[in-house]
Amino acid sequence: MRLCIGRIPVDILDNNEQAKKRIIELANRTNTPSFVVTLNPEIAYRAEIDRRIRYIVRHSSLNIIDGIGIAKIIKWKTGITPTRITGVDTIWQVLMNVDDDIPVFLYGAKPDVLNTVVEKLVSSNPNINIVGISHGYRPWDRVAEEIIKARPRLLLVALGAGRQETFMYHYIRPLTIPILSIGVGGSFDVWSGKVERAPKQVQDLGLEWLWRNIKQPSRIGRLMYSMMYMITALKKEVRECEK
Ligand code: UDP
Repeated sequence: MRLCIGRIPVDILDNNEQAKKRIIELANRTNTPSFVVTLNPEIAYRAEIDRRIRYIVRHSSLNIIDGIGIAKIIKWKTGITPTRITGVDTIWQVLMNVDDDIPVFLYGAKPDVLNTVVEKLVSSNPNINIVGISHGYRPWDRVAEEIIKARPRLLLVALGAGRQETFMYHYIRPLTIPILSIGVGGSFDVWSGKVERAPKQVQDLGLEWLWRNIKQPSRIGRLMYSMMYMITALKKEVRECEK
């Protein structure tokens, strides 16, 4: 089911496993640039104020409910309790299940983080076909050229909320090649072991966002985006999206 919180579509899925299957199916099937968004209140707020981010969020094939805040808004407004689908776990599972049919390009994070992720992926899934990588601190146009040449079917963009959707809008959306792009935020940092995940109990309480902000106080400004979204979303209508 696809619901719209105002202009922002969200897809309600049963669990991470179902999300993984949908993403692999989309990567296999797509014949144009398409997008999956791991939606949280910060990205939703950025989508409200920036038309490029809004374009990606509104034209995506799948917007998974990655942030607990999005699940709460749906619950408060409709009574439906959607399952939170954790992007960082789901996308890792996708990568554990891809083979030659879905060549992968990894873009983003610091060079050492990216290299560690590549090593872990290759040792955990010998069938993975990584056709290109780039760390996240190079000119966007150069990276885009490399992506086009490498011809991945699955592109992971780990530049952080907002920046990654802006990259996709400018450099992937105008292409005519079959490519599924997913913004994965800080997932490379987590997979490499550089950033520690919140303990399971904290995750189960839906307080992972609080943990991240305590661990990295520099994120506090971004927390304001999430708060702003929660306040404004309460005034929005939540209904089934129009086709
Ligand atoms: N990053 C990057 N290029 C930049 C800025 C950030 O590759 O110009 C990377 C950064 O190294 C980190 C990720 O983007 O790996 C952002 O992580 P963050 O935790 O902020 O993402 P979130 O999931 O919160 O959006």
